[in-house]
Amino acid sequence: VHSVSKIHRIASIPGDGIGVDITEAAIQVLDTLSKTLGGFEFEFKTFDWSSRAYLERGWYMPPDGLDRLKEYDAIYFGAVGSPDVPDHISLWSLILPIRKALNQYVNIRPTRILPGTISPLTSCATSPTFLDWVIVRENSEGEYSGQGGISHEHSPNAVATEVSIFTQAGIERIMRFAFETARARPRKKLTMVTKSNAQRHGMVLWDKVFFDVAKEYPDVEIDKMLVDAMTVRMVLNPQSMDTIVATNLHADILSDLAAALSGSIGIASSSNLDPTRQNPSMFEPIHGSAPDIAGKGIANPVGAFWSAAEMVRWLGEGEAADGLMKAVENVTGAGIKTKDLGGDRNTREVTDAVCAEIERLF
Ligand code: ATP
Ligand code: MG
Repeated sequence: VHSVSKIHRIASIPGDGIGVDITEAAIQVLDTLSKTLGGFEFEFKTFDWSSRAYLERGWYMPPDGLDRLKEYDAIYFGAVGSPDVPDHISLWSLILPIRKALNQYVNIRPTRILPGTISPLTSCATSPTFLDWVIVRENSEGEYSGQGGISHEHSPNAVATEVSIFTQAGIERIMRFAFETARARPRKKLTMVTKSNAQRHGMVLWDKVFFDVAKEYPDVEIDKMLVDAMTVRMVLNPQSMDTIVATNLHADILSDLAAALSGSIGIASSSNLDPTRQNPSMFEPIHGSAPDIAGKGIANPVGAFWSAAEMVRWLGEGEAADGLMKAVENVTGAGIKTKDLGGDRNTREVTDAVCAEIERLF
């Protein structure tokens, strides 16, 4: 039988540090997935946009970089950052411009306990479902507006402003996405995070829009948390939450906490979505370049695989996405894990095990 394969064109930006190792691992697993399942193929184009390249040539992305990305079906991103470049330079040179230019206003960060991984919350770990969250992060405005400035910069009287910008339209669209996400999950429960007791303009609008949009979703159970109390609840009562919606900054912080509570920051995935599908969406593990373990071949590739699975799902290959996650879970469940998860395997061994498991499953 001769069948035509669908081709998914992926722009790959490995970036720096362990971003390079885990992107290579993800590409190996994705190639194994397409060869084993058939019906679709990936065509990767690698872009060397990194802090390492910046230190050599003075730029991260060429002037037409954002336009070039628009030619792809999706973007796979490793990590960017270097001890030799201030973090705000690397962030604002690459990842934040991509999110903004490609209208990726939603960032989805799922967290659950994978088989064979151990949560530090051992007192709660009586049920496998005690921690199963989806954090919906506002990804386009708020605290990451980039607006503000410094006056009297090099004097003892320096004053800096960091302006958070919240718009009705921006809040409404993230709330709708969060309610749809909550509604599609079995528990139909949405927790909204805010700091409207102390931040009395943007956060108050955030609350108001949440409760307005909630009227359109009477079947979704809602509650409201201040971000400080939220960190306590995530540790002490994790099973009481399901879908969580929070601002750009709050959700960034809460998702690192969520990843740590699920066993390691090396597990978690992050999907930067343009829900209109007019631009490619971008998929990346939540962890950074981890300079402390870069080049040692010991980075946990599970967050990279989970991100790859979410990318594959977004591209319409649901069976492949489920198969990839099943393979990852069988491998962690068998105790084949990196050091951050208490195991003794390296990146390559975990990657090869996941590929072998994909071949066994299909
Ligand atoms: P960046 O500046 O790029 O954000 P960072 O070091 O500040 O880098 P992370 O890269 O997220 O932040 O690393 C935080 C800690 O978690 C480090 O100790 C790192 O070694 C560890 N870590 C992060 N990702 C992984 C991974 N995939 N596998 C194992 N350990 C990891
Ligand atoms: Mg960091």
